[in-house]
Amino acid sequence: MKDNGLLVVISGPAGAGKGTVVKELVKNDNIKVSVSATTRSPRPGEENGVHYHFLTREQFQDMIKEDGFLEYAEYCGNFYGSPKKQAEEWINEGKDVILEIEVQGCQKIKEKDPECVSIFIMPPSMEVLEKRLRGRGTETEEVIIKRLARAREEIELAKDYDYIVVNGPIEECVADVLSVINAEKLRAKRFDKTI
Ligand code: 5GP
Repeated sequence: MKDNGLLVVISGPAGAGKGTVVKELVKNDNIKVSVSATTRSPRPGEENGVHYHFLTREQFQDMIKEDGFLEYAEYCGNFYGSPKKQAEEWINEGKDVILEIEVQGCQKIKEKDPECVSIFIMPPSMEVLEKRLRGRGTETEEVIIKRLARAREEIELAKDYDYIVVNGPIEECVADVLSVINAEKLRAKRFDKTI
């Protein structure tokens, strides 16, 4: 078996519950989540280095110049990127690494690394999505409207993912994602051991 871990891209519209799913997934010792860099301002309770690396636009541009990102994209007026170094280290150590990123970032990763597996977390309905987005109480109406419009566009692109998991009851969604990861790791092409 190849010792390298799996690169797992998880996308889905804001409010689909990706964050909750990822929180559950990383309870497994072999699964790590990449901490992205962003130019957006921290929300209440968000810690630098834990939820994101919060950077200025200049710092973000410097990291692009230094080729420090696996991918980066602009989303609703802010930049987001997946730092390269930590993710590569984990993959080399055999850990499975989750990138919780939006659709443009996923497309870029797929081009660079066709071996990665992509999973789209689909909300059960637009009504549920809107309720979850509003329920957070952290965004202005303008931001909510922007994010809902973006969610509709993202859902259109879900068919380009390897897997779609509907986020109804959280335990079921987590179990489905773990099944995907486990099955992907058992693919014959990843088996290169002589017995
Ligand atoms: P939020 O501002 O709600 O934390 O994130 C907005 C969107 O950016 C979400 O869809 C999230 O998955 C995505 N995102 C977070 N980090 C990255 C990243 O490193 N790269 C890309 N392309 N998208 C990201």
